[in-house]
Amino acid sequence: MSLFFSVIPVAEAIRILTAAAAPADPEEIPFGEGLHRVLAEEVTSDTDIPGFTRSVVDGYAVKAADTTGAGDAVPSMLRWTGTVPMGDVPDRAVAPGECLYVPTGAVLPDGADAVVMVEHTEQAKDLVLIRRPVAKGENVLARGEDFPRGGRVLPKGRRLRPQDLGVLAAAGRSRIPVYRQPRVGVISTGNELVPVTTVPSVSQVRDVNSSLCAGFLQEHGCVPICYGIVKDDRDRLRDALDRALGECDAVLVSGGSSKDARDHCAAAIADRGEVLAHGIALQPGKPTILGRAQGRVVIGLPGHPASAYIVLRALVRPLIGVMAGGLPPERRVGARLAENIPSPKGREDWVRVRLESGLARPVFGRSGLLNTLAASDGVVVVPAEREGMEAGEVVEVILW
Ligand code: AMP
Ligand code: MG
Repeated sequence: MSLFFSVIPVAEAIRILTAAAAPADPEEIPFGEGLHRVLAEEVTSDTDIPGFTRSVVDGYAVKAADTTGAGDAVPSMLRWTGTVPMGDVPDRAVAPGECLYVPTGAVLPDGADAVVMVEHTEQAKDLVLIRRPVAKGENVLARGEDFPRGGRVLPKGRRLRPQDLGVLAAAGRSRIPVYRQPRVGVISTGNELVPVTTVPSVSQVRDVNSSLCAGFLQEHGCVPICYGIVKDDRDRLRDALDRALGECDAVLVSGGSSKDARDHCAAAIADRGEVLAHGIALQPGKPTILGRAQGRVVIGLPGHPASAYIVLRALVRPLIGVMAGGLPPERRVGARLAENIPSPKGREDWVRVRLESGLARPVFGRSGLLNTLAASDGVVVVPAEREGMEAGEVVEVILW
């Protein structure tokens, strides 16, 4: 096997991954557990919302025609015949020349077609002076105007936000169809790795990637299942892969993804399925493996945590988009580059940056450094076809 990579472009890697993945099956859950879950079907309302025509202000329910020409100098004068109680059906209608007081949200009485805000009126006993004209429908929300019965309140693929849960409540959907959260296996491999609870000896390194991957997966609506640390040994790695493939919808292996004799990830994937690509035109993140086994995607991530994290953002995120049916929104801001970014043509560079009052300052550092992740606010992506970017250029920063 060649020790050199023949790299594929990032867009091609995403195409391979998204084509190899499938959305998780739908399941039904109580809507109160639906925050950040993704709707597997569109949701409709079982009633008109609102269910009755109602006032949107405190004021007097009137016939709009009775207010024509009303003003401060010559107000319209209407007879007050009562008040509509909140939560009740009005017990009388509005006849010509009459009005009923309606609080915000109360049922508009029959005969009325508009509401005059109380601020534009003056009541003296059972006479009400109207100082502004209203048009038909003014200050009124018609039955079904928000959402009609049977109409779509939320689309398929919506990742539910708090306001969406409110809409589901209004629509009477106490149970909702959502995609099952993908279960993603996480394996760390390396003879030097020890768990977080161990004080590393001179030659050892604490396992960073299990936690990093698990957090990323949770943030993106997946259920991470960690299989711990596996030695640099093809058979043991294959055993761990077998366990993960038996329980998960996809598997992430970090470490051992390069082409050195001690790197067993590609061989272990090939033992159970196929390696679809090995080497991506991405910096950091070149030694990445895309594989498939037993109908599931297996990704070999570089061991360097900063590189692994970039591959999660660049490649695993779109994969999860397919498997989970939707993604958390990616926040982006525009900023001016504080310094030049050199970048060779032919590879996509993900440069960590810190935001400093509207400036994006690159956080340069070797890929082994964890501090570039902790000290940065996001990344600027230098496309493969560009040879760097210049200080002063306006760039888009993907925030994390
Ligand atoms: P590898 O990709 O296996 O060649 O590892 C590259 C570098 O990343 C080495 O310095 C490893 O010690 C380090 N590394 C690999 N896996 C992890 C991990 N899970 N946590 C922290 N560092 C790691
Ligand atoms: Mg290693």
